[in-house]
Amino acid sequence: MTLPTHARTVIIGGGVIGCSIAYHLAREGRKDIVVLERSKLTSGTTWHAAGLVRRLRPSATLTKLINYSIELYGELERETSQATGWIQTGSLTLATNEDRMTNIKRQVSLGRAFGLEAHVVDAVRAKELWPLIETDDVIGAVWSPADGRVNPSDVALALSKGARARGVRIFEDTRVTGLRQKGGRISGVEIGDHVIETEEVVIACGLWSREVAALAGAHMPLYACEHFYILTKPLSEIQTLGPGIHLPTLNDQDSHLYARDDVEGLLVGSFEPHAKGLPLDRLPADFSFDLLDEDWDHFMPMMENALRRIPALEKAEVRMLLNGPESFSLDSQFMLGESPEVPGLFLMGGMNSTGIALAGGAGKAMAEWIIEGEPTMELNEADIRRFGPEMNVLGALEARIPEVLGRHYDNPYPGRAMETARGQRRSPIHAGLVAAGARFESRGGWERPVHFGGDDAHLPLTFGVPVWRQQVGREVEACRSGAAILDQSAFGKIMVQGPDACAFLNRLCTAQMDILPGRIAYSQILNMRGGVESDITVQRHGPESYLMIVGAGEVVRDLKRMRETKGGFRVEFTDLTSGYAILGLAGLEARSVLQATSNTQIPDLKRFGFVQIEIGLARGWAGRLSFTGEEGFEIYVPADMGLAAHEALVAAGATHAGLFASGSLRIESGFRAFGHELSPGTTPQEAGLGDFCAFGTGFVGEDALKHHVQERQIISILFNSPNAIPIHDEPIYFDGKAVGQITSAAWSYKFGRSVALALISAPHEQLASQTVIEGFEVEIACTRYPVRASLKPAKEAFA
Ligand SMILES: Cc1cc2nc3c(=O)[nH]c(=O)nc-3n(C[C@H](O)[C@H](O)[C@H](O)COP(=O)(O)OP(=O)(O)OC[C@H]3O[C@@H](n4cnc5c(N)ncnc54)[C@H](O)[C@@H]3O)c2cc1C
Repeated sequence: MTLPTHARTVIIGGGVIGCSIAYHLAREGRKDIVVLERSKLTSGTTWHAAGLVRRLRPSATLTKLINYSIELYGELERETSQATGWIQTGSLTLATNEDRMTNIKRQVSLGRAFGLEAHVVDAVRAKELWPLIETDDVIGAVWSPADGRVNPSDVALALSKGARARGVRIFEDTRVTGLRQKGGRISGVEIGDHVIETEEVVIACGLWSREVAALAGAHMPLYACEHFYILTKPLSEIQTLGPGIHLPTLNDQDSHLYARDDVEGLLVGSFEPHAKGLPLDRLPADFSFDLLDEDWDHFMPMMENALRRIPALEKAEVRMLLNGPESFSLDSQFMLGESPEVPGLFLMGGMNSTGIALAGGAGKAMAEWIIEGEPTMELNEADIRRFGPEMNVLGALEARIPEVLGRHYDNPYPGRAMETARGQRRSPIHAGLVAAGARFESRGGWERPVHFGGDDAHLPLTFGVPVWRQQVGREVEACRSGAAILDQSAFGKIMVQGPDACAFLNRLCTAQMDILPGRIAYSQILNMRGGVESDITVQRHGPESYLMIVGAGEVVRDLKRMRETKGGFRVEFTDLTSGYAILGLAGLEARSVLQATSNTQIPDLKRFGFVQIEIGLARGWAGRLSFTGEEGFEIYVPADMGLAAHEALVAAGATHAGLFASGSLRIESGFRAFGHELSPGTTPQEAGLGDFCAFGTGFVGEDALKHHVQERQIISILFNSPNAIPIHDEPIYFDGKAVGQITSAAWSYKFGRSVALALISAPHEQLASQTVIEGFEVEIACTRYPVRASLKPAKEAFA
């Protein structure tokens, strides 16, 4: 087979991910697909993976993707005659402390809402299921009978066979050396002197993906780590199980371990707390079916944990300490999607050691995205557009990624923050926040204050009542009755200018943008299917000049959509995110405090109006709106005047509040947030924002909304019990049936109980006719809690 000079789609990388994307594209009917593999199929990371596939995950998206993978791996052999090695062994996850028990029970609750079978069992039952383990410290476990394992190479080969049968051409020993663009779009792939012209390129090059993406100037912030497991020679305890009998996969996350039987012996792997990063230049260019050096000094603490949990290992002969490379992402979620920088270039990688489990579902999702031009399911947490170029800094990756591997088995406590690569993006008022005792979390590279009261005021982390509850309560009170500064400088700021600025924004945004200068519009940006792609406010500064304020971390995706929508509109847009500070000032005293800083008289602004002001030594403008739903302003000043404005506000009596306080107030006020209530799969009507849509302006998604049958809606809920502490994603039941999930939750200082917003299916008749209804329950860690529900904001409905 000779290399073609043209192909509709070129997939680079023949690991399990590239093979799955090829298979699913072909299955969806896409023709003229070529896969190019530098060496042989599976020769990168795929061939040596442990092959574990576990369904219970912390998010609905991951659970759905892995569920599909399992279905597929069970069926592929029938279709392709190539075994995948799928064995349904079940999995057993141990807990040796209450927090771990809570965490795994939370996953059980989520899984059950999707119909997954999972049982909470005691230590005695755990030992029956895995007789080789020591259980003296085990307080409980979760038995998930439908989990299993595969042979990773066989999965990739079955997928490639299925793809070939549908016409996909696969070329091994074919290294891509360059990527070509025409008019800013991907146009070709270079293999030495040979060029394949193409409309679409997919990069699925595992740990090499970042470098291959860079050939086109695209950004894929991922980095490799060394990843270890031991393989033992046969053990009599495994041999006596009998032929064809397997142990469940064992997860002992408190000991940082996983284990399974392997050819009559054991495979025991680890996510050790102090992982080893792997600079790419340590791998030879021809690295293929290769491994890294054993490192017993590094693995020994994990070996000691393993010996304690599985005493039979004492007499086992270790066949090898396998050390293989795997790539991880900055936030421990994999990434997929179209490159924001290069249209037509699709990227998938940073699989965080779940590439085998995810390959089926995520490969299908990627294929559908390529064909439809949009994600076809909820993929926000994995969307490549969450990373801007500023996140793709080698120094930050080198610092952060070993921590990501090391914390793979951490409990996802609220308030948990990464400790490495800190201080990458600092607000213009950072120094003032430090002086005020801010506790920061790193979000999208930004240092964001979550609460005040000192850097160690977040410990110990817990799923229960956090130590910061009282402090945040004081901040909430300040946002209501005082004047509290909320640093919102991480919000994206995009200037839109040109003769067609108004017409362009009316095409891009759902709200009417033909507003007077000095006014602000609240709007969404939709996709063609009417799903929400962004939640924004837009200020009109002049006849041809607007400033869009977009969510922190949404700038990349919004700019991409703006470029796609631009067409013939005479308009330019510029990212000014780093150029301005935004200081929220919330509370009944906000006006008097702001006035005290200013020599100019602050007019009696109407809601959603803004005006130029002086604040101490700084000059900027203030808008009358707030992210908390409380009285207040948003103040915008040039970045270099941020601290001057901050100092003036503090001198005038302003205090501080962090994200936990603003989150609690937002949820009480029923304000929707992107990535929570709002997502590409949710329409404005479902989100209760239909009234903000200016039908008739011809906005993107308008046609879809006109024919939209609303099947879901957002509700506010208030828990009856003060002991219920939801976080996110908890399932909600009505009449014993799972009807939806929590999208945001927080402690309400107004009600002394948790409040939440939830997305539920099927509009509920009683909700339409009554302000508050009973009968809903939320399941948190296997306990059902009764809640009251309303279509109105919690602070109105339950007052
Ligand atoms: C020790 C270990 C245990 C693991 N256990 C599990 C597990 O139990 N369960 C699980 O789900 N995951 C596990 N993983 C993770 C899993 O193996 C990976 O996530 C997955 O294999 C990644 O697949 P990939 O296709 O992205 O990468 P790869 O398999 O590395 O494939 C990328 C391919 O791209 C090719 N390539 C690179 N550059 C070029 C170029 N310029 N031109 C052409 N081709 C190129 C490479 O040769 C390679 O074949 C484990 C990983 C390790 C290291």
